[in-house]
Amino acid sequence: MKLLQDKIINEGKVLSNQVLKVDSFLNHQIDAFLMKEVGKEFAARFENEGITKIVTIESSGIAPSVMAALELNVPVVFARKRKSLTVTDQLLTASVYSFTKQEENTIAVSNQHLTSSDRVLVIDDFLANGQAALGLAEIVEQAGASLAGIGIVIEKSFQEGGKMLRERGLRVESLARIKSLENNEVQFLEETEAAV
Ligand code: 5GP
Repeated sequence: MKLLQDKIINEGKVLSNQVLKVDSFLNHQIDAFLMKEVGKEFAARFENEGITKIVTIESSGIAPSVMAALELNVPVVFARKRKSLTVTDQLLTASVYSFTKQEENTIAVSNQHLTSSDRVLVIDDFLANGQAALGLAEIVEQAGASLAGIGIVIEKSFQEGGKMLRERGLRVESLARIKSLENNEVQFLEETEAAV
């Protein structure tokens, strides 16, 4: 997605060979126009999948998810990272090792909002080692719902997550795929290079 790639080039800050900071449009300040376009792109890619719900994780997955949800006319459920749900809820949970915080978190969704009749699109902001996406996929499975695929705003394809998820047979659609952050420079994986 050209608009997103341009934004990453112009405003992304390479913090290390592994980490890209995009606080000016995705992780702190949100570029609502860009998110609207991101939402349209996710919706176009999954429009024939009969999606009934988008599942994401707080907090940075929420903006792109809401935009895609408006296009697909479905609700968004975001997994919570802390046990902030009331104890009366029956929780679907997964354990996720956070790439950025380097700590294990339990993520949880109430079974009130995800059921076996749902067809789910999982969305997240970044894909690194795939732990967040896998945790969300586990929650979808616990609910007995079916998973249509995973939409990612920015995939770092030099890390293992994309390969791992695709090898499990999951459909992963990433709107920008970064092949390297070396030498303080963002290099994108072109469509023709994307073997998987
Ligand atoms: P994973 O679970 O795939 O290892 O990591 C994905 C999660 O870690 C995302 O939800 C995102 O919050 C965070 N993350 C991973 N890599 C980056 C990065 O390079 N920059 C930012 N801002 N967040 C990242």
